Amino acid sequence: MNPEQELGRRLRAGIKKNEPMSLHTSWQVGGPADYYLLPADEAELQEIVRFSNRTGLPLFIFGNGTNLLVRDGGIRGLVVQIGAPFSYVHREGNLLCAGAGTSMTFLARAAAKTGLQGLSFAAGIPGSLGGALVMNAGAFGSYIGGLVAEIGLVRFDGEAVRLGREEIVFGYRQSNLAEKGIIVEALLELEEGDPDLLKSEVEKYLAERRRRHPSLPSAGSVFRNPPGRPAGCLIEEAGGKGLSVGPARVSEQHANFIVNPGGASARDIEELIEAVRQLVKEKFAVELQTEVRIVGEKR
Ligand SMILES: Cc1cc2nc3c(=O)[nH]c(=O)nc-3n(C[C@H](O)[C@H](O)[C@H](O)COP(=O)(O)OP(=O)(O)OC[C@H]3O[C@@H](n4cnc5c(N)ncnc54)[C@H](O)[C@@H]3O)c2cc1C
Repeated sequence: MNPEQELGRRLRAGIKKNEPMSLHTSWQVGGPADYYLLPADEAELQEIVRFSNRTGLPLFIFGNGTNLLVRDGGIRGLVVQIGAPFSYVHREGNLLCAGAGTSMTFLARAAAKTGLQGLSFAAGIPGSLGGALVMNAGAFGSYIGGLVAEIGLVRFDGEAVRLGREEIVFGYRQSNLAEKGIIVEALLELEEGDPDLLKSEVEKYLAERRRRHPSLPSAGSVFRNPPGRPAGCLIEEAGGKGLSVGPARVSEQHANFIVNPGGASARDIEELIEAVRQLVKEKFAVELQTEVRIVGEKR
């Protein structure tokens, strides 16, 4: 079955063939998605999932592409972005109901504005709420998983379901959500707070990030922190700062960031990841694990 004829006509945003993933990842690298789709609502998403089941075309879901290394050969099948159409926030008592496409910074600002406390840490995390939930994103000692009351998702059989807190397992930069389906919405439980204080807390965290993080394209921390010492310290002490493969290089400002000043390929970045891993292993006998997700085919 032809996705362009079958799905293209029914989806409001249509379907794009051979869409470069470099347009959708914060590293600005990545080869073509066979078919790129931006569903306008849950019903369209269900239609895509059912189409994938009928045809056997693989399905890949992403949010803002800020934790992804897409290889230069791209991604086969249907590549679905949970983006702007799923961006909304409203308050229900002490709960904040937000769409999975909502940006974390927008969410932190919205919580502060309405006087709900607990989300300021998320200001400046450049991902979507859906991606943050899958990764259990966190900063400054807080994690998104700790706030979850309920999640709305579309299962891989196309059914829309709600998951209670007790069905979800959150760990360090991981959760069991991606195996359960595609996240479309979350209910977050927060506490009453003072809007003015919260707004200044949000600005404080944003300023702290501007100070600490490189501004060149990156995917944030490349490696998970192993028990004991942060990955960035191990890389710095092993002499990894400034190491490069092609234009890709380990940031001088933050050793757990690999930056793309322009012109790097996914292959450059992946080779640099391996070089850093090797360096730290030789120096400290510690095997670093990636926090970024590496997907797609090599060219
Ligand atoms: C400058 C910078 C700073 C960063 N700082 C932090 C930080 O402080 N803390 C932190 O935790 N992370 C940080 N990150 C990493 C990243 O922003 C987070 O992991 C973020 O939560 C990922 O969200 P995303 O929408 O970009 O996800 P993506 O990169 O698009 O996807 C991540 C994973 O989630 C899956 N996924 C995405 N959306 C959905 C969905 N709706 N349903 C099911 N699966 C989905 C994807 O398949 C993929 O496996 C930083 C990144 C950058 C570039």
